[in-house]
Amino acid sequence: MGSREVIDLQGTHVTVAGLGVSGIPAAKVLHARGAHVTVVNDGDDARAREQAAELEALGVTVRLGDGATLPEGTELVVTAPGWKPDKPLFTAARAAGVEIWGDVELAWRLRGPDAAPWLAVTGTNGKTTTTQMLASILKAAGLRTAAVGNIGVSVLDAVLGDEQYDVLAVELSSYQLHWAPSLRAHSAAVLNLAPDHLDWHGSMEAYAADKGRVYEGNRVACVYNVADKATEDLVRAADVEEGCRAIGFTLGTPGPSQLGVVEGILVDRAFVEDRHKNAQELAEVSDVNPPAPHNIANALAAAALARAFGVPARAVRDGLRNFTPDAHRIAHVADVGSVAYVDDSKATNTHAAEASLAAYESIVWIAGGLAKGATFDELVTKSAKRLRGVVLIGQDRALIREALARHAPEVPVVDLDRTDTGAMLAAVREAQALAVAGDTVLLAPACASMDMFANYNKRGEAFAEAVREIGS
Ligand code: ADP
Repeated sequence: MGSREVIDLQGTHVTVAGLGVSGIPAAKVLHARGAHVTVVNDGDDARAREQAAELEALGVTVRLGDGATLPEGTELVVTAPGWKPDKPLFTAARAAGVEIWGDVELAWRLRGPDAAPWLAVTGTNGKTTTTQMLASILKAAGLRTAAVGNIGVSVLDAVLGDEQYDVLAVELSSYQLHWAPSLRAHSAAVLNLAPDHLDWHGSMEAYAADKGRVYEGNRVACVYNVADKATEDLVRAADVEEGCRAIGFTLGTPGPSQLGVVEGILVDRAFVEDRHKNAQELAEVSDVNPPAPHNIANALAAAALARAFGVPARAVRDGLRNFTPDAHRIAHVADVGSVAYVDDSKATNTHAAEASLAAYESIVWIAGGLAKGATFDELVTKSAKRLRGVVLIGQDRALIREALARHAPEVPVVDLDRTDTGAMLAAVREAQALAVAGDTVLLAPACASMDMFANYNKRGEAFAEAVREIGS
């Protein structure tokens, strides 16, 4: 297979599009392999100049303030994943027959002949959690592994670093997949598909097609979500290796070739002998942290990929037990009185917030921020019966308020009409006033945070601080 040959880039003229987290390491790696590297970057600020100086000291050419023009003589473009495909630089490259690789494609092409296979995870929501669960399961099986991609270690570092791995758990975004045409995973999962980043991809179809690339050339299993038909359609459309199986995961009772849940037990009916008659118990629902429905789905997807790699059932259980989610993902902050306060600041889109709201029976919901073009009718309609009350903050809160007025007019809403940082304490106080014993106050904003906070971490921290304040 061409992709397993060690690529020789000696003397090749490579243009790296974009300084930054992927561009700088890519430029260094390419330079070390003997390529003639030119980095182009739109911005020309102090930070970019500092980064440029560092690269120039190595012998890399850097062109600041013009990321649009393709340098003369370019034979290959390596781009930061976030660059939009309709940029003039790419149009020029395509017209000249020049290949365009993203950071993942570069890592894939540069990995050696004995490189570890990849178990890949994509989807609109749950990627990080599932990839980390998968790595935890693989570790519990005694395998040398790491969770890589948009998490901690970059794919390039994992592939080219000194550490030896048996297998990698790789989180891939739709952007990374767009720019990774020759990637061939051992097995892959698409967790779910909801509209996101459509301004970048151009349409829902294009977004889905990029996600679906993760299945191309899979050798052992394509893991899909039984509850999300679009993911199964992507498996059907994929061109896979002979013998590769479609494996579903479901929160219901699994059919043959599926993983699912039976009476509180996670069960495998795919990687067992005689799957028409047999099932293998993997773990209990209570082994999953937190045991919210969407997170059990994540655990099943991770288990499916691990089982496709041959991991024993016991390791699935141990790996799930050892796993703790990253901060701000359905994190229980405290109980104040008999009300639970939960931080899901990472619910930055409506699909994530919907999953979060489905995890509790009676909720005072804190929402709002930057809507990024989203509409809230479906989210409100599906969640209305669980809402004790709603507290709205942030720039686009009117969109949520209007959806509530349309679909849940009986639910009390406090519109804080604030976007300052101190608004979080006021929001938590209002939520406390609305909540009754047994309720959950849930921060699941369904919006990005940048109107009020530096990022979703800071938003979650502000929430936790406010909860501590009302509890003291
Ligand atoms: P990603 O890496 O795809 O952004 P994360 O694992 O960081 O995903 O989770 C982000 C947020 O998405 C969580 O805080 C939760 O609100 C929501 N989420 C997690 N898993 C799922 C899922 N399977 N379906 C829907 N929403 C989910």
